[in-house]
Parts: sequence; structure tokens; C-alpha cells
Amino acid sequence: MNTPTPRSAASHAAATQAPYSSRLRYESARIHAAAIYCSDGRLGEHFDDFLQQGLSLPRYDRVTLPGGPACLAGHPQAVLEEEGVVDELKFLVEVHKLKRIVLIAHTSCAFYTARLELKEPRLELVQRADLVRAAAYVHRVTGLNTIEAYFARVMEGHVQFEPVEV
Ligand SMILES: [Zn+2]
Repeated sequence: MNTPTPRSAASHAAATQAPYSSRLRYESARIHAAAIYCSDGRLGEHFDDFLQQGLSLPRYDRVTLPGGPACLAGHPQAVLEEEGVVDELKFLVEVHKLKRIVLIAHTSCAFYTARLELKEPRLELVQRADLVRAAAYVHRVTGLNTIEAYFARVMEGHVQFEPVEV
């Protein structure tokens, strides 16, 4: 008897589907910049729009995780993330020859509300102070001098990116 190998519906669908070909052109030149921001999917396109159009950084390298630069501000609740992100940054500086790093925090970030249990108005003050701490830390571990920070403010139906002095 020939028993067929069990297969999940998902893998079967993937095997029978035609490959998807992206219509976006691939450009191999690197821009030597990276951005660290929260992985919150509701803001992904806004971060892209700001970095690509607002700061003129097409093809920037993305370092995303819940809370983004919050893990570089010395919170004991994020030591594992800190180790991982520092390692990634050092790699990108060495291999992708990064010259510039952009840090972005955003309104009501769940990392702050859930993991650090913070509420407004203190939440935003802590986020802004964290951007300053994270920038100093990134400078220390990468040796880069061009580090900038922004606060993404979610306002009725749109997102505004405000520079933060770091
Ligand atoms: Zn967030």
C-alpha cells in the first residue's frame, strides 16, 4: 500500500501556486543608513514613507522589533532584545557600511504600555528620554556620529514625525 505523506493545507497551496513576481524594481546599491523602529504593523507604511520620502533614504536597512529603540535605553525588561539589536547594528556597520542611524518612537507604543506599564502623559516623556539614551548607546557601540531621532505622533487619521534632540 502506498501511503501518501501527510501534508498541511498551507504547504500544499504553496506547492501548487505560481511564484509571485514583484513589480518593484530591484536596485542593488546600498544607502548606508538604517532605521530602528517598532514592528507595529499599523505604522509600517508610515515609517517607510517618512524614511524614504521625508528623509530621502530609499532602501534603508530596517531593524524592527516591538518598542524599536526602547530596547537600547537600558530597561531591564529588554536585555535579551538589547543584546540582539546591538549585535545586528555592529553587523550592519561592518558589512553594510552604515553611516547613519535613525531612531523612531511612536505614540502609545504597546512595549511601553504593556511591558513597562506606563501611561500618558508620563509615557511620552519616558519615550523621549529613551531616544536620547538609545542614541548615546548606539554611538558608543557603533562609533557612528550621525544618529538622529523622531517621535511619530499618531493624530486623527494621520502620523506626524517630530524631530527629537539627541
Ligand atoms: Zn510600538
